[in-house]
Amino acid sequence: MDINHILESLRWNCVLWLMNDLEFVPGAPGEMKKVKIDQVDFDDEVFQAKLEKLKELEAELDGCTRCRLHEGRTNLVFGVGNPDAKVVFVGEGPGYDEDMQGIPFVGQAGRLLTKMINALGWKREDVYICNVVKCRPPKNRTPRADEIKICSPFMFRQLEIIKPRVICLLGACAASTVLKLNMSMSRMRGKDFYWRGIPIVATYHPAYLLRNPAEKRKAWDDFKRLYRMVENSSSEISNAK
Ligand code: SF4
Repeated sequence: MDINHILESLRWNCVLWLMNDLEFVPGAPGEMKKVKIDQVDFDDEVFQAKLEKLKELEAELDGCTRCRLHEGRTNLVFGVGNPDAKVVFVGEGPGYDEDMQGIPFVGQAGRLLTKMINALGWKREDVYICNVVKCRPPKNRTPRADEIKICSPFMFRQLEIIKPRVICLLGACAASTVLKLNMSMSRMRGKDFYWRGIPIVATYHPAYLLRNPAEKRKAWDDFKRLYRMVENSSSEISNAK
């Protein structure tokens, strides 16, 4: 076994420990630091322009009653993170904690996602995180087709504004909405997909991983693939300069 295999094995065991450890941490939901897009330090013109466009888009959703999901909403959950992110994570819709705080992925599944992002060496503030629908479906049910049809154009506009190097789709709802495919995640993951030329990594939703811990290793493989795709896109861009 060469040194790279030993290092990879150590890294995987460390990640596995982190991912498993989460299950034993009694979760005070919502301990995540609030990262509002307008709190991120920005100097750059592109960053500023994207920030303004995202703010305008968020303002369009202010008080939104376009679909029935507004009825049970406490807070609309637009999205958070870096407006000029290299990676955008797209989930399904807000849950209880997200609805309470107005921030995506802050409950137990969100903490798992954050740990996986951190395990790649990234910070949550480096990436952008949003959902297909912006209001919590009752009892966390899957969003219905008409709700997705009405709300998902706003998610697509977020992707258009940010133009990330890679999009990571978390779970079947996000994957089927973006890819327009009716396939199980087990068949989608690992395959090459694109949205408007942007490469896509489809993987399991963190909430699914909490219910099926045996699948965490596959999800980690997907995250490593995501990391490589982002790194490769960075080196392609710097080589082109
Ligand atoms: S889910 Fe989307 S379309 Fe429906 S009310 Fe909320 S913001 Fe509006």
